[in-house]
Amino acid sequence: MKTPYEILGVPKTASQDEIKKAYRKLAREYHPDRNPGDAAAEERFKEIQGAYDTVGDEEERKEYDARGNGFGGFGPGGAGNFSAADVNLGDFGDLLGGLFGGRRAGAQPRPRPQRGADLEVPVKLSFEDALHGLETKVAVEVDATCRTCHGSGAEPGTAPTLCPVCHGRGVLAESQGLFAISQPCPRCRGNGTVIETPCHTCGGAGTERRTRRFSVKIPAGVKTGTRIRLKGKGSPGEAGGPAGDLYVVTEVDPSKRFHRRGEDLVVDVPVTYPEAALGATVEVPTPEGGRVSLKVPAGAHDGKLLRIRGQGAPKLKGGGRGDLLARVKLSVPSKLSKKEREAIEELQRVSHEDPRQELLS
Ligand SMILES: [Zn+2]
Ligand SMILES: [Zn+2]
Repeated sequence: MKTPYEILGVPKTASQDEIKKAYRKLAREYHPDRNPGDAAAEERFKEIQGAYDTVGDEEERKEYDARGNGFGGFGPGGAGNFSAADVNLGDFGDLLGGLFGGRRAGAQPRPRPQRGADLEVPVKLSFEDALHGLETKVAVEVDATCRTCHGSGAEPGTAPTLCPVCHGRGVLAESQGLFAISQPCPRCRGNGTVIETPCHTCGGAGTERRTRRFSVKIPAGVKTGTRIRLKGKGSPGEAGGPAGDLYVVTEVDPSKRFHRRGEDLVVDVPVTYPEAALGATVEVPTPEGGRVSLKVPAGAHDGKLLRIRGQGAPKLKGGGRGDLLARVKLSVPSKLSKKEREAIEELQRVSHEDPRQELLS
């Protein structure tokens, strides 16, 4: 009779890590998925499995070591008649962890319904479209039912066949005294059927990538990074789970004229020195393409923000609009006529202001 250590090819003093590594390597090599129809490999896999069940878990191993070779050997037909079912390749470790919470033998494991993934798709908008809103189309790649095999995963003309390991039950049960341990069948991964001839389109997955197009209403007032949710238009769910959502994420072209500041829009308004000094009424463009009159107060300094209510960007929530902020931009002439020069020189002569007094004090 071989001991679990001999079966796994490790010394009795091996660390848990070394045992795990040896087990993974062997389990991969002899897994029924890799060796279809090979009875010897299957026996070997069961043997490896049984050995790991015993020494792969630190607590179990302590008990085993204390007992000596208490199970009476792990060879094929030995008392430790472990099934190949207690593991699937995706899930090593903690193999006996499910002992007490385990299902009763015969209970059919159902794959748990899973919600599909949320997807994101960007959409580019002009500044004007972002202000007005529009309806547009987005294209997104999603996993969809394969059109060749209609989701079965089997090549047309063939059908999935009954799993030879679990005979269609999808689960393998091992009775141990009072307890019955059952695990999803490793050959068919709980499906109860196996695909002998995989579909040539999807390779047996039953799904394929497909481009789907959706119409999306972009509300007025979006800015770069606004997310619009299309419920249920994401990846399809698994095992009857709901589909995920699709998020359309807006990317708005900047405007040469207007700068977004939340729901407000800032626009630079050039103002001459006499207008700023004396005060004036000037015209300001609105984002809608119109104009509004703006009173610039006497003594307005460069950079002063003048608020024009309700002429900003539409508010996404709650309606209404933000404000238009006119920023005074003092315009200095680059060329002067003779008359202008004389007037400015006169202004300088009579000016009593020293704007740098505070700076130099
Ligand atoms: Zn297919
Ligand atoms: Zn099976």
